[in-house]
Amino acid sequence: MERRRAGRIQRTGYVAAGALLTAGFAALPQVSWRSSREVHTHMEAVATCIALVVGAMALVRFYSKKNNTFLFIGAGFIGTALLDGYHAVVTSVQLTGRLPSALEALEPWSWVASRLFLSVCVYLSWLAWRREERLGEQGRMGETAIYAGAGVLTVLTFLFFALIPLPPAMYPELFFHRPAEFVPGAFFLIATIGYLKKDRWRTDEFESWLVLALIVSFVCQAVYMSRSGAMFDGYFDVAHLLKIVSYALVLIGLLASMYRTFDSVAVQAEHLATANAGLQREVQDRKKAEARVAERANELARSNAELEQFAYVASHDLQEPLRKISSCCAALAEDYADKLDDDGRKWIGYAVDGADRMRRLVSDLLIYSRVAKKGKPPVAVSAENACRTAIEDLQEAIEECAADVTVHPLPRVLADETQLSQLFLNLIGNALKYRCDNVPCVEIGVDATQPHEDVANRDEFTLYVRDNGIGIEPEYFERIFVIFQRLHHKTEYSGTGIGLAICKKIVERHGGRLWVESTPGRGSTFFFTIPSAGATKNEPSHRQPTAAAH
Ligand code: ADP
Repeated sequence: MERRRAGRIQRTGYVAAGALLTAGFAALPQVSWRSSREVHTHMEAVATCIALVVGAMALVRFYSKKNNTFLFIGAGFIGTALLDGYHAVVTSVQLTGRLPSALEALEPWSWVASRLFLSVCVYLSWLAWRREERLGEQGRMGETAIYAGAGVLTVLTFLFFALIPLPPAMYPELFFHRPAEFVPGAFFLIATIGYLKKDRWRTDEFESWLVLALIVSFVCQAVYMSRSGAMFDGYFDVAHLLKIVSYALVLIGLLASMYRTFDSVAVQAEHLATANAGLQREVQDRKKAEARVAERANELARSNAELEQFAYVASHDLQEPLRKISSCCAALAEDYADKLDDDGRKWIGYAVDGADRMRRLVSDLLIYSRVAKKGKPPVAVSAENACRTAIEDLQEAIEECAADVTVHPLPRVLADETQLSQLFLNLIGNALKYRCDNVPCVEIGVDATQPHEDVANRDEFTLYVRDNGIGIEPEYFERIFVIFQRLHHKTEYSGTGIGLAICKKIVERHGGRLWVESTPGRGSTFFFTIPSAGATKNEPSHRQPTAAAH
C-alpha cells in the first residue's frame, strides 16, 4: 500500500518536472538573453567534470554489482565526458579559426555528437538489461568489447570534427531551428519509456533518479535545444543548464544507491557480528561440554582399568585356594565316604559342586579380564585354522552329542589367533550346549551377502556360527552379551554367563561387532565382523566398536 502511494507520488513528480520544464519554454521568448562563449566553455567544463565522476562511479558500481546497466551507463558517461570536453575545447576562443569548420557548424554538431552518444548508450543499457533478463548470467556482456566500442566511437568523432568541414546545423527558417536535436531526443524518450516500463524506478533509488534525468534530457533536446536559433541565446543556455542538471541527477542516483548499499552492508555486518558472537558463545559452551565429557571418559577409563585389574587379581589369586578347597572336598568325599552318613555325603557333594562351579567362574572371569590385558597384537592369521583349533578342543563334546559341524572356507583375517580360537570355542560350545532334541548341526562360514571372491579387497569380513538349537527370544538379543546374564537355570544348562561377554570383548578389541539373529525353537546365528588380513593400515585394536550387539 505504502509502496503504491510512493510510486504514485513519484510518477506525479516526473510528470510535474516534465510539464514545468516545458512550460518554462513558453516564458523564454520574452527574455532577450544572450550569454557568451566563455559562459558556454565554463558550462561545458562543469558538465565534463560531472560526467567523468558519474562515469567513474557507475563503473565502480558495475564492478561491484556486475550488471549491464551500470556498464553501459559508466562507459556512456566516460565517453560523453570526453566528447563534452572536446566540445568545450573546439568551441573555445583559443581554437577559433584553427579547425576546418566554422563555429556555427562546429558547436551544434559536436553538441549533438555528445548527446547522441549518451542517449544511445542509455538506450543500449536498457536493451542490455532486457537481454540479461532473458538469458540470465549468459546475457551478461563482456566489458572489453563495450569499452573498445565506446573508445573507437569517441576517437572517430574527435577526428571527424577535426578534419571534415561540417554542413550547417541551424535552419532559421524552420520553427525548430536545430532539427538534428530530435535524434538524441528520440533515444532519450525511448530510454525513458523503457526504464518506466522496466518498473524498477519505484524501488531502486538509482533508477528513479535516472528516469528523472532522462525526462530532463528529453526536454532539453526536444523543447529547448531544438528551438535555439542562435548560439548563446536563452534556449541554448537553458539546454546547457538542463544537460548539467540531468548529469547531476544521475550522480545523485548513484550516490543514493551507494548510500543504500553501504547502509544495508552495515546492517548486515551488525547482524553478522551478533550471529558471530552467538556462535562464539556456542563454540565455547560446546568446548566446555566436550572437556567435561573427556574428563568423564577419562574417569570411566581409569575406573574401568582399576576394575579389570581387580577382576584379574581376584580371579588369579582365588584360583589357588579354590583348587585347594576343591581337592580337599574331593579327598574328603573319597577317604571318608564310608565314615559319613547320607547327610554328610550330601553336604560334601554340595561343597564339591560349589567349589567346582566357583573354579569355573573364576577361570572364566580370568579369561575375560585377560582379553584386554594379555591380548597379543593382531596379525594376519587363518580364521579357518583358528576355528579348527577350537573344534579340536571341543571334539569330546561333539562326539558326545554326535553333532554335525561344517566349516566353510574361511578367509585370512587380522587377529590374535588365540583369542579368535577362544571366540569360536565359546560360540561353537554354546551351539552344542543349547541344542534341541534333534541332531545338532553347526555351520561356520562367511556371510553369504559378502561374496568370497571379493576377499582381497575387503576391509572386514562378517563371519557366522549357525546352529539348529533352542534359539533365543528377540527381547534377549542384547542382554545375553552382558556379563553374568543367563537365560537358564544351572539345572537346565550349566554355565557362568561369561562366555558371550568374552566373545563381545574379543570382537570389540579387534574393532568389530557381534550380534545375534534367532528364531526360538529353530536355532540361532551369531555374526561377528573382523578385519581382513589386508586391512593392515587400520590398526584394529584402535578402531571404535560401532555396536555391541544388534
Ligand atoms: P553361559 O552359556 O555360560 O550361560 P553365555 O554368556 O555363553 O553364558 O551365554 C549367555 C546366555 O545366552 C546363555 O545363558 C543362553 O541362554 C544364551 N545362549 C548363548 N548361546 C546360545 C545359543 N547358541 N542358543 C541359544 N541360547 C544361547
